[in-house]
Amino acid sequence: MSDAKQNSPENAPAPESLENKESQDQAKVGVYICYCGGNISDHVDVEKVRSRMENVPGVAVARTNMFMCSDPGQELIMDDLRSGAVNRVVVASCAPSLHETTFRSAIARAGGNPYQYEHANIREQVSWVHHGDAATDKATRLVCAATGKARLMQPLEPLRVDALRRGLVIGGGVAGMRSALDMADRGIETVLIEKSPYLGGGVSRLGKLAPYGEDAETVVRDLAARTLSHPRITVYCGASLSSYGGYVGKFSIELSTTAAEDEAPSPGQYVPGKGVGGPMLPQNIALETGVVVLATGFSSYTPHTGEYGFGENQEVITLPDLLQKLSEMKDEKGGQLHLDGRRIRSLAIIHCVGSRQIPGVHEEDENGHLNEYCSRVCCSASINAANTIRESFPDTSVYELYRDIRTYGRGQEEMYAQASANRVVFMRFNVEEPPVVRRIAGEYPLEIEVKDELTFGEELQVPVDLVVLATGMEPAPIHDLVDMLKLPVGADRFLLEVHPKLRPVELPMAGVFLAGTCQAPMDVGEVSNAASSAAVKAVSLLGKGFVELDPFVAEVDLQKCTGAGACVDACLNDGALKLVEMEVGGETVTRAEVTPALCLGCGACVAVCPENAINVNGWTLRQYESMVDMIISDVAFEDSGEAKEEPAVEEETAA
Ligand code: SF4
Ligand code: SF4
Repeated sequence: MSDAKQNSPENAPAPESLENKESQDQAKVGVYICYCGGNISDHVDVEKVRSRMENVPGVAVARTNMFMCSDPGQELIMDDLRSGAVNRVVVASCAPSLHETTFRSAIARAGGNPYQYEHANIREQVSWVHHGDAATDKATRLVCAATGKARLMQPLEPLRVDALRRGLVIGGGVAGMRSALDMADRGIETVLIEKSPYLGGGVSRLGKLAPYGEDAETVVRDLAARTLSHPRITVYCGASLSSYGGYVGKFSIELSTTAAEDEAPSPGQYVPGKGVGGPMLPQNIALETGVVVLATGFSSYTPHTGEYGFGENQEVITLPDLLQKLSEMKDEKGGQLHLDGRRIRSLAIIHCVGSRQIPGVHEEDENGHLNEYCSRVCCSASINAANTIRESFPDTSVYELYRDIRTYGRGQEEMYAQASANRVVFMRFNVEEPPVVRRIAGEYPLEIEVKDELTFGEELQVPVDLVVLATGMEPAPIHDLVDMLKLPVGADRFLLEVHPKLRPVELPMAGVFLAGTCQAPMDVGEVSNAASSAAVKAVSLLGKGFVELDPFVAEVDLQKCTGAGACVDACLNDGALKLVEMEVGGETVTRAEVTPALCLGCGACVAVCPENAINVNGWTLRQYESMVDMIISDVAFEDSGEAKEEPAVEEETAA
């Protein structure tokens, strides 16, 4: 039997105490409307909205500012809270995903309750899509609706969940090892799992890394040695996640073996092109962890047969293949490059293969996907390879055939300039007229025909011994993990962070973080930065031994609940809601019970309950009703003579 502590009638506020609270805590709503530097005020008459808000019941103060999110804008709110002029805040500005946290923090700093806050989006929902009087009127109604909710808001407290000081990192490439080391160095016991028998991931297949020429093998060996010897890191290779449950602070995980132990190299042994052997998971095991870091890496695009002659000519290879062959040659030098016993007098690298694909121009893969994004690293990797070849084998000619060169980042433009000094020949093609690779008879096996925009459309034929396709990055095939953890995936099929600037390594599910190329194409430096960011976030989350979560979770009114269970059937998150037996009024009854740490606050349960016995804190049915009443009310328009009816505003303030 559950102790039903959270929902028990004993713990629910008595009606008398709510009435007392109402009389002590009359709603005084402050409305703060942002110009957004013209983004909003160019289309919405912000001052008119402000003056209209002064007609609205419960609104104590209405103010405007050029940038509400700026320090002076936040100070306006904080001053009104500190002086007692307001006790609930509505900000009308950009999307809440951008600045809701900013304003909640300002309220907390001023001593207010950060959950007595409502946000009206009058930028994306109004000024970016409407103009003129209609925009001003819509903004007025959205702000009115927010005040209707704000008047009914009660103070809420964050949920506190105990947190294990343990982290799980999924993926043993550079990102995974970097994250594991950063967490372990800061006192978090860390388990790192890797599907293959090797640590090192995609970087193990690279040679000299752009732009400074570090040896990929050295980077991988160094990280692996530190990871394997760290007293707080446990490594399991040949391991994958087979089940996942729980919540931030206490995820329950089961690991199962994915590779036989006899396939594995000895731990610490380096195998060229594969990485460093790690200890294999001996058997399926269960464990608990406070956080999960996803470092599942990427896949290289595989050209389809016939794409620039790939699969039809052994002299057409991919850039990762070339890099691996070059890395196996170590510091060999000479007149001409030799690969697989063949002399390479001239080679051409074709950029953007499997990247920046265009519907109607490029062929979709078997699942109908096109990679419309830029893979970001292949220009630098191609030019780095070209420089290596020209500097080590000066009698080999190198041609770079590109659509655009994108060598962004420190040191990379210099590498591009160095390629010109090394007499790498650049040719630029139009995507509509890509280069054609054909087999020829005679001295060279292949010829590339290209219409070169740098010579104003001259058609050039270049005989070559080798064609290298600069294949882009694709998301790793982690569909099982995506389904199991319900991970958000972007239009590009990489895992999608909450916000690229404000929460760049976080996922919507608390306690799960992104590290490296599972999120987007990145070079090794960017991967390391992202992995360290994820580790810092994880450590700061677990550091206190508990985690605080927003309180927007479902709560059951045990007096109204009949235990029919429609809500349990509708619940979107396994384990968030269940039926339990409990004592209510001296009787043993069946009632719905919420596990707050698992509740998503989605409201699916609220929608199906015939008794209206379940509500989401901070988003109650009464608050929604009040918002709807205020949207259709003309109370704000009264002074202009536009009002058509009396306001449908309830005067009560209890939720
Ligand atoms: S990095 Fe260069 S080669 Fe790679 S997709 Fe972007 S533009 Fe194309
Ligand atoms: S709000 Fe959503 S996740 Fe929470 S109990 Fe209701 S249906 Fe389940």
